[in-house]
Amino acid sequence: MHDLTDLYQSVILDHNRRPRNRGKLPTANRVAHGDNPTCGDQCSVFIRLDGERIADISFDGAGCAISQASASLMTTQLKGKTAAEAQQLYDQFHHIVTTGQPPEEINDLAAFAGVHTFPARIKCATLGWHAALNALKGDEAPATTETHKD
Ligand code: ZN
Repeated sequence: MHDLTDLYQSVILDHNRRPRNRGKLPTANRVAHGDNPTCGDQCSVFIRLDGERIADISFDGAGCAISQASASLMTTQLKGKTAAEAQQLYDQFHHIVTTGQPPEEINDLAAFAGVHTFPARIKCATLGWHAALNALKGDEAPATTETHKD
């Protein structure tokens, strides 16, 4: 089990060091922001939805290692998925971080199983997911990103 724990920690460290799909997505037609004031985490998620499918996804934000690594990993898991599949993956991830039990099929999401021993950090781990699901529920107006130009 120790090796497994090390492996999981390495997944989180790797996503921290080299965040995937980070930065604004110019072609996004969905965007949502997540805010976790208890820890000071911020996360924006940009999605280009093509019909029912997530054709492209990115995140941008700042905060603790858990929140940023989780958002990075999330983008790699959701790309190419449908909104319904995204919801299923979130349900799986939420189960992992609240119970510490890995999914039947071991995947990188299990890297966050240790979060369940730190209940305050669950919000950090799920922040990006909440933003993504909100974005998927939002309007399909292509101009959405226009209101978030810096
Ligand atoms: Zn945090």
